[in-house]
Amino acid sequence: MSTIPRRKFIQLSAVAAAGYLVQTGREARAADLPHFAADDPMAQAMKYTEDASTVDAASRGNPAADQSCANCALVQGADGDAWRPCQIFPGKAVAAAGWCSVWAPKA
Ligand code: SF4
Repeated sequence: MSTIPRRKFIQLSAVAAAGYLVQTGREARAADLPHFAADDPMAQAMKYTEDASTVDAASRGNPAADQSCANCALVQGADGDAWRPCQIFPGKAVAAAGWCSVWAPKA
């Protein structure tokens, strides 16, 4: 028979179930956000693009830095996600490979 006491097994199962629900909820929120459109007037004002490689590095505030939404201090969500929430554009998901003129280095 099992060497795990019944009470400990129930406690571990509850923790695992709670973790699964939190993880599932986080992913659902990020996935449910509409993508921030590059033709949105706010996106155009901030020079947002879904592809940071198309931006002339000389036009950036810090042209030497490798900049994309994925390494911006203002991006939220999980590393590795293709689309992530951004503090500057609430309610929208920005492309991890994107960029805008508000880009800031992580501390
Ligand atoms: Fe991307 Fe940062 Fe601009 Fe948000 S503030 S769109 S994460 S570069």
